[in-house]
Amino acid sequence: MVIDLEIFSPVQQINDQLFAERDLLVYIKRDDLIHPIISGNKWRKLKYLLKKAQSHNKTHLVTFGGAYSNHLLATAAAAARFGFKATGIVRGEQVDNDTLFMCRLHGMHLVFTDRESYRDKPALFNKYFANDDQAFFINEGGASPEAAKGCSELVNELTETYDHIFCASGTGTMAAGIINGIIQYQSPTQLHAIPVFKNGGFIANEIDKLLIAPANYQLHTDYHFGGYGKVNNELISFIKKFVADTGILIDPIYTGKMLYAIYDLAAKNHFKPGSKILAIHSGGIWGLLGMKDKFN
Ligand SMILES: *Cc1c(COP(=O)(O)O)cnc(C)c1O
Repeated sequence: MVIDLEIFSPVQQINDQLFAERDLLVYIKRDDLIHPIISGNKWRKLKYLLKKAQSHNKTHLVTFGGAYSNHLLATAAAAARFGFKATGIVRGEQVDNDTLFMCRLHGMHLVFTDRESYRDKPALFNKYFANDDQAFFINEGGASPEAAKGCSELVNELTETYDHIFCASGTGTMAAGIINGIIQYQSPTQLHAIPVFKNGGFIANEIDKLLIAPANYQLHTDYHFGGYGKVNNELISFIKKFVADTGILIDPIYTGKMLYAIYDLAAKNHFKPGSKILAIHSGGIWGLLGMKDKFN
């Protein structure tokens, strides 16, 4: 089977009075529309990993994530779509939630593991699958050079040049991939990454490891809202208003924080008038389901 999806990821303008007042043109690339479940950067990150598994005749994907992981869910759906078996090794005690329900529905087998053992993923892989010669290890979040390569392709799809591209960052793989794409196309675009963790400065090391050449990019480490999965009323109000104004769903874990940063930086006159800014909608809207109670 050919492992590919037809990419549907249009670029749309975001119209807002703030951007009009500051003379900014702001757009969003809708990677969330690539697939309802294998959405956003998760498809880009999995594509070359799945091709590698296939070329090594591996039929069983084994990967890792927290109980709300977009990566686990995307892997479950991609495995189902392209004929792989899948196991998800889940951090923490056995729970059930909407994400894990969807993983199971796509045929993923789930193994729960305590937080201590979860740290050593190769050891877990060996513990369960040393005797399964069909098993293929995919790191948490899909972090790998293959994943960065998949993300770099996003830049090929752009038909215009932007001054700034913004993305949310967990492992930094997508940011590295986009920077590599920018380097390959010798584009003058500046990438801005918004780490969704507290003290996100460490992500620069992860990004730099995956770069094909040294590059300048900007990390904005003050938009984590207290840490991974943490929110406050300001972020929730921003998300409600953004969704109601634009009809574009965003989540509180990744894309909400990244878009908040663009609005905040625009309000603080961070961008030169006339700048063209592209936000990457990296998907992950199912993350909303785990945070419904925060929207009351
Ligand atoms: C996983 C994810 C990210 C983080 O991507 P990294 O490559 O790990 O930095 C960003 N946005 C969404 C919606 C995600 O699901």
